[in-house]
Amino acid sequence: MHNFNLALAFSEQARQHPERLALAVAGREVSYGELARQVSLLAGFLKSRKRSGRIGVLGTRSLDAYVGILAACWSGCTYVPLNLKWPAQRLIALMALLELDALVVDETGAALLTAEILAAAPRDIVVPQSLALAPERPGQAISIRSGLTSDPMLAPAQLAPDQVGYVIFTSGTTGLPKGVMISAGSLAHYLDQTRPWTDYRPEDRLCETCDVTFDLSVHNLFLCLKAGASLHVMSELEMLAPARFIRAHAVTVWMSVPTVIGLIRKTGALKPGLFPSLRLSIFCGEPLPVQAAQAWLAATPNGVLENIYGPTEATVICMRQRLTDPPVVTQGRDILAIGRPYVTMEIALLDSSQQPVAPGIAGEIALCGPQVGIGYFGQPELTADRFREINGKRWYLTGDIGYRDQAGVYHHLGRADNQVKVKGNRIELEEVDAHLRRAAGVELIATVAWPTRHGSAEGLVSFVAGSTRTPEQIREAMAASLPRSMIPRAIHMLDSLPQNVNGKIDRRALIALLEEQATGHSPGGSDHLEAATSGGRAL
Ligand code: AMP
Repeated sequence: MHNFNLALAFSEQARQHPERLALAVAGREVSYGELARQVSLLAGFLKSRKRSGRIGVLGTRSLDAYVGILAACWSGCTYVPLNLKWPAQRLIALMALLELDALVVDETGAALLTAEILAAAPRDIVVPQSLALAPERPGQAISIRSGLTSDPMLAPAQLAPDQVGYVIFTSGTTGLPKGVMISAGSLAHYLDQTRPWTDYRPEDRLCETCDVTFDLSVHNLFLCLKAGASLHVMSELEMLAPARFIRAHAVTVWMSVPTVIGLIRKTGALKPGLFPSLRLSIFCGEPLPVQAAQAWLAATPNGVLENIYGPTEATVICMRQRLTDPPVVTQGRDILAIGRPYVTMEIALLDSSQQPVAPGIAGEIALCGPQVGIGYFGQPELTADRFREINGKRWYLTGDIGYRDQAGVYHHLGRADNQVKVKGNRIELEEVDAHLRRAAGVELIATVAWPTRHGSAEGLVSFVAGSTRTPEQIREAMAASLPRSMIPRAIHMLDSLPQNVNGKIDRRALIALLEEQATGHSPGGSDHLEAATSGGRAL
C-alpha cells in the first residue's frame, strides 16, 4: 500500500467544497473550509513539536476534540484519545507511558487538569478554541485564536502504511486499560472495505453517538469527511432522547450500540415510521436482539439495518449482517447473526489449543488480515498472548465464542470470559440472557454469576429494566425452557441498567452493586439494590 494520510480525503473535500457543512457539534456548525483552516494551523504547531509522534486528545463531543484528532493525523502523528471519565491516577499513569509530544484539550478536559495531572502532562497543552487553562502554569496553554507561533501546514504529511494511526484504549480487565495500536494502513483497508456498503454521500447527515475514545468514532469521522457529508455529534444530554435528535436533525445514518434501541423502546416511543429520514442504521458492540432490530427497522420505512461485528484490535469491524426478512437468527438466542467477513479478512474458529474446531462446532473467533492491529502499546506480553502466529499467519484471538452455519454465516455466542461455572455446571451468561430477554419482554437485561468463590460461582443473579412482569413471572417463564442451574436465584427489577463508557450494558458495575449490597458499603450510604428492587429506583 502506498503512503497516504488519514486526513488527506478531508483536505481534498475542504479544497473542493469549503462551504459545505462538516461538523455540527456543541451548538456550532463548522464548514469544511473552516475546519481545515483550524486543523492546518494546529497541525503546523504539532509538527514543530514532533518527537515521539504521539498527540493526546483529552476531550470528546467537542470541536476541540475533532480539531485535535484531525490535526494530529494531518501533521503525520498518532492520535491518542484519553477518556474524560478516567480517574486522575489512570490519566497520570498513561501519560507517563505514552510520552506525548502535546496534549490537545477541550473545555471539559481543561477543567480536569489539576496540578498533579499537569505535572505528568506534556509541556505543550493546546486548547484550540480558548486560552483559559492552567493558572498553575501560566503561559503554557496555546490556542488557535491567539495565533500559534508556527506556520499552518498547508497539506497533510505523508504517512507510511505501518505507522501507528491511532491508539485507542479498551477497558482491560485488570490494571491499566489496553492501548490498541492501529496502523494507518489497517485503517485505510478498513475504509476501503466499508465505503462501498455504507455509500456515504455529501447530502448524508451522520449521527455521532459515541465518545472519541470508542472506535466507532473512527468509522464515523473518517468515512464522513471522506464523503463530504456532515457529522452531527450528540451531547451526553441529547443521548437521553435520541429519537428527538434524529428527527430534529433529519439524520440519514445512525450508528450506535443496540442498548439504545432498548432505551427508546422502554419509553414506548419507537413507533413504526418514526424515522423517515434514516436510510442506514448500524448497530455494533453487543448482541443485537432480533425483536429490537425489527422494531427499529419498522421505525425507518426508508432504511436498511446492519449488525456489524468486530473488536478494536482488528480496526472497528470486519463482519456484517443485514437484517433481512426472514432474519438470519443465531440458534436459540433470538439475536441477529454477525454475518460474513470482509473479503480481505480471514476468520477461524479455534479450540483451547488454537487448533481449528470441526465444522459446525463453536470455537474462539480468531481474525487474520490487513485490519489486525499492531498490538497493545507498551504491553508486549499481553500482545504476544492475544496476537499469535499460527501456521505462519498472524491472528488476533478475540475472546469471543462463535460458530459458522452451513451457509457460511457466523454467529456470536458470547465472550469466553462470560462462560462461568455455577456449582460445576458450565454456563454461558449470554444464553441465560436470551431466555431472560424473552421472559421479561424487554432488551435491557443482564445476568451475572455471583457470588464467586475459588473460580466457581454459587449462582446467577439477573437484572431487568422496564419490564411490566414480576420477578416471579420471569423466573417461571425461564424455568419452562432452562435447566435449574441456569435459572437466576434473584432477579432485580431496576429503572435502568449501568452502561460502560461506550454505552454497553456493564456487567462489572452490576457485580460491584451486588458486592456493595453484601458488604453494606453503598457509595451513597443508601441501599441501592434494595431500593431499586422494591421501589424501582434508578441505579
Ligand atoms: P470493542 O473492542 O470495545 O469494540 O468490543 C468488541 C467486542 O464487542 C467484541 O469482541 C464482541 O464481544 C462485542 N461485539 C462487537 N460487535 C458485536 C455484535 N455485533 N454482536 C455481539 N457482540 C459484539
